[in-house]
Amino acid sequence: MSNTDFVLAVEDLTVSFDGFKAIDSLNLYVDKNELRVIIGPNGAGKTTLLDLICGKTKASKGSIKFKNEELTKLPEYGIVRKGVGRKFQTPSIYENLSVFQNLEVSFPRGRGVFGALKFKCNAEVRERVQKVAEEIGLADKLQTEAGLLSHGQKQWLEIGMLLMQDPELLMLDEPIAGMSVRERELTAELLQRICQNRSMIVIEHDMEFVKRIASKVTVMHQGKILAEGSMDKVQSDPKVIDVYLGH
Ligand code: ADP
Ligand code: MG
Repeated sequence: MSNTDFVLAVEDLTVSFDGFKAIDSLNLYVDKNELRVIIGPNGAGKTTLLDLICGKTKASKGSIKFKNEELTKLPEYGIVRKGVGRKFQTPSIYENLSVFQNLEVSFPRGRGVFGALKFKCNAEVRERVQKVAEEIGLADKLQTEAGLLSHGQKQWLEIGMLLMQDPELLMLDEPIAGMSVRERELTAELLQRICQNRSMIVIEHDMEFVKRIASKVTVMHQGKILAEGSMDKVQSDPKVIDVYLGH
């Protein structure tokens, strides 16, 4: 494919696990500054798609272009450096470190805990930590040990750790799982705040939440895209109704 304005262009993407195609000739295009929500029944291939984009899983076939650069041949850390951040379903924060320290170690210069502890915490890092802490609503918790945060706050902290790298594409897998109603509301606001100047892909199956945040929704089923468009459009699509009623 020739150069495009898409931040992400996935074409003919396929991955087989022992002959089973978890992702099957999938095409997906995400615009600059777009917040795309991907829904679909369990086993549709949503998590696998993110695994492929972030390089955790290697494609059997097809192409993944981020700002017109092919990602399928890059290692995971190379993809992170290009500006793609991905949050997994379970938060991976350092429970014994403070919120401040968790954010600090996520600053690109300090790779991993040990490298980060050695480097001087200069004004630039402090400034960035402060800004991100405000974005994720934890500015008054900077000195709190991360292990003492609520489940929702831990999720936000992990999003903040990704924001420290200032990714141009941020991918979140079921970010509100296990959250209280209030935490869900705050997360919807948080996502709207942080998608202002970056693209995001959010996998979620809570429809109320999806309605709140989504402009365009992609419905996956059996490793393929079943429908795409506004929430109203996909919800009234007979193919989509069929798949959800069948499960
Ligand atoms: P979703 O996130 O939409 O629920 P997944 O992407 O987790 O779906 O899984 C899609 C399908 O691929 C499932 O049938 C799952 O069992 C299978 N799958 C995912 N990862 C692997 C793997 N590493 N090895 C074998 N099968 C896998
Ligand atoms: Mg999944």
